[in-house]
Amino acid sequence: MWKLPEGAEFVLRRLQEAGYQAYVAGGCVRDTLLGKMPKDWDVCTNALPCEMQRIFADCHVIETGLQHGTLTVMYHHEPFEVTTFRVDGEYTDHRHPDEVVFVTDVREDLSRRDFTVNAMAWSPKTGVVDAFGGQEDLEKRLIRCVGEPEKRFGEDALRIMRALRFASVYGFAIDPATDAAIHALKDTLTDVAAERIRVELQKLLCGDGAGDILRAYPDVMQVIMPKLAKVDWPSTVAAAENAPATEILRLTLLLHQLEPADAKAVLVSLKPDNFTRDRVLTLVTNQDYPFQTTRHSLLTALSLFGEEVVRQLLAVRKAKGASDVEPLSAVLDEVLADGVCYSVKDMAVNGRDLMALGARGKAVGECLNHLLSLLLSEELPNECVALLGAAKAHLDA
Ligand code: ATP
Ligand code: MG
Repeated sequence: MWKLPEGAEFVLRRLQEAGYQAYVAGGCVRDTLLGKMPKDWDVCTNALPCEMQRIFADCHVIETGLQHGTLTVMYHHEPFEVTTFRVDGEYTDHRHPDEVVFVTDVREDLSRRDFTVNAMAWSPKTGVVDAFGGQEDLEKRLIRCVGEPEKRFGEDALRIMRALRFASVYGFAIDPATDAAIHALKDTLTDVAAERIRVELQKLLCGDGAGDILRAYPDVMQVIMPKLAKVDWPSTVAAAENAPATEILRLTLLLHQLEPADAKAVLVSLKPDNFTRDRVLTLVTNQDYPFQTTRHSLLTALSLFGEEVVRQLLAVRKAKGASDVEPLSAVLDEVLADGVCYSVKDMAVNGRDLMALGARGKAVGECLNHLLSLLLSEELPNECVALLGAAKAHLDA
C-alpha cells in the first residue's frame, strides 16, 4: 500500500465515499515508482466539476481551472488538484485543445497524457493502472509517447520539450519512434509561448542527462535559439555539462560562444525573469575577465562584480576547461576570510567625512575611489584614521 500525503488520501476518500472513482495520476505515480518524492499529487476522478464542487463544498477550494475540469482543494493550506477524467478535443494551434471532453473511464483519461511513464494512475482499490506500458518503460528507462508520436507532438508541440526534459532529468533514453517525431516536428515549437519553453529548457539544462540530450538534439535547440547555429556545438555542450547544474550557469555556458549582443537576443526571446537574463548576460560578457592569482586581482574583481558574480565567473571559467580555478578560488577564500574591504559602501569613511575635510562635488567621489584603490592594493587598513590621513593627502595634492 502506498503512503500518500494526508491531503491526497482525504481527497481520494471523499470522492470514493461519494460513490465516484478516484486515482492519483501522472507525475506522482511515475515518481513514486521511481522511488522519488513526488512534487505534487494530482487526483483524477469520474466526478464532474459540478459534482466535485458539491463534494468539496465544505472545503477551501480554488476554481480557476473548472472549465477544463480542474478544482484545487486546499487541505491544511496545501493544494491538491482534482480533475475530471477528460480527453482533449481537436487541436488547431499546436498547443491548446479547442475543447475538452469529459469521459468516464480512467484509461481514456490516461490516453490523453503525453508519455507512457506519465500515463499511470493509482488507487488503493485498484493498485497501479498502467494501460500503455509505463512500468515497463520506467524499467527500460525510456521516454515514449502514448499513441502515435507524430500525432501527439502535432497536437501539442510543448511535448517535444517535455520529452527532452524528462529524458534529461531522469537520464532516460528516447524511444526511436518518439525521437524521429521530435526531429520531424521540431519547427512547430515556434508556436509555443516562450515562457513555457523556458520552463522546460531550465529543467532540461539542469538534468543529469543534459549533455546527452543537447548532443542529440542540436536541431531542436536551434529552433528555440536560432543564434546557436553559429556556435561550435560539441565544445558548447561539453562546457555546459561541466558547469554546476543551475539555470544561470548552464545557460551561460550554452551561450558563451555567442557575441554578447546575440546572447542578449537569445535571452530576450526566452523571456526568463530579469535577474536571470541580466546575470547570464553579465557572465557571458565578462567570461574572459583576466583573473590573476593575486590578492589584488581578486579584490579588484570583487569590487567590480561582488562575491556572487566572481564565484560564478570562476565556475564558468572552470567549465570551459581553465586549470587555474582552484588557486584562484583559494585566493578568493583567503581575502574574503580576512575581511578585506572591497567596496566603497563598506569603507570606514564616507562622503560626508570627506566633505568635512573640505572636499566638494566630483572630488568626493574621486577621493572615495582613490581610497578604495588603496584598500584593494592593501596599502592601508580599513580604518578611519588611516583613511582620513590618506584622503587629506590626496585632497591637498
Ligand atoms: P513534474 O514532476 O515536473 O510536475 P509532471 O509529470 O507531474 O512532472 P505536470 O506538468 O505536473 O508534469 O503534469 C502532470 C501530468 O499531466 C503529467 O504527468 C502528464 O500525465 C499530464 N500532462 C502534463 N502536460 C501534458 C501535456 N502537455 N500533454 C499531455 N499530458 C500532459
Ligand atoms: Mg506535476
